[in-house]
Amino acid sequence: MQRKVTTASVLASLVLLCLALGPVSLGEEEEEKKPRVRAWRETGPAEERVDIVFVGDGYQRRHLTRTGKFWRDVNRYARELFEERPFSTYKKLFNVYGVFLESKNVALKGETALGCYYASPRLLRFRDAKALVRALAAAPPPDIVFVMVNTEEMGGAGTSLGEIQRRGRPLPAPTFSARDTISFQTALHELGHSFAGLGDEYVDERTAGRYPLPTEGRDLPHANLTLAAHIDVTSRETIRATAKWGRFLDLPGAKRWSWAHEGGYFRGSGVFRPFRRCRMRTVSDVFCPVCCEQIAKAIHEAAGAPWSPEEHLEKHPLRKWR
Ligand SMILES: [Zn+2]
Repeated sequence: MQRKVTTASVLASLVLLCLALGPVSLGEEEEEKKPRVRAWRETGPAEERVDIVFVGDGYQRRHLTRTGKFWRDVNRYARELFEERPFSTYKKLFNVYGVFLESKNVALKGETALGCYYASPRLLRFRDAKALVRALAAAPPPDIVFVMVNTEEMGGAGTSLGEIQRRGRPLPAPTFSARDTISFQTALHELGHSFAGLGDEYVDERTAGRYPLPTEGRDLPHANLTLAAHIDVTSRETIRATAKWGRFLDLPGAKRWSWAHEGGYFRGSGVFRPFRRCRMRTVSDVFCPVCCEQIAKAIHEAAGAPWSPEEHLEKHPLRKWR
């Protein structure tokens, strides 16, 4: 469900922007529109932290006071993020900022700063990538951007921002409706793709056609999915020996689970996943142990911190999962 801002759409935005600017120079316009930035949590220099930036779309001047709706929404969702593994464990590796970006209207009720819109029911995207890049210039260079949309309609998308690269990939910039928790949980699912390279674990045969399987004996690239040809599910021993996540079967408490569930990557059969429940399958679940580890690894990479899978697993014993 990842959606990328295409070069064509960016060019279109650029043309529209130039037309709208008329004789005013870009520099003056940028200076005039530079929004305020406020730290929700700041624990160290940007190079040594995962920098998260919340940017709001559809927040009017009245929403942007120190205690206004924008800051309350930042507070609500940042807290929610750090209540969950593995973000809770590694909270000290994060900085979090809010960029106070003013819109003329609330989202979907007229023109807004980023032009968020529903591309289809619940698929919430932003139109003006350049405006987002400009807004982000007010904050330290981000590793993750949450585009928080002030609307009463639920939805979101796993959007990335191609103009800014992080760790060799477009900057993760998922959108979500600030209306409800489930929209934010969807944004976290999308972050699993764009920040940690995880694959979808759910089944949706209508979508499967758009995502062909690898050929020539290759496996899916995601740490949480494997093709049937690459795993032997005959017994625990064969799963331990053949699964990408086989080492998890040696951990204390691993016996409670089978570690091979058929169904994933939109297909009901032919693809296996490690755990029965996971946010990459159902957005309201927590991340499974395998996905949790991948996200933790990505957090350490982004923060430039040494990574030890052993230490991670000590901090996240399997008994924490249900
Ligand atoms: Zn998972």
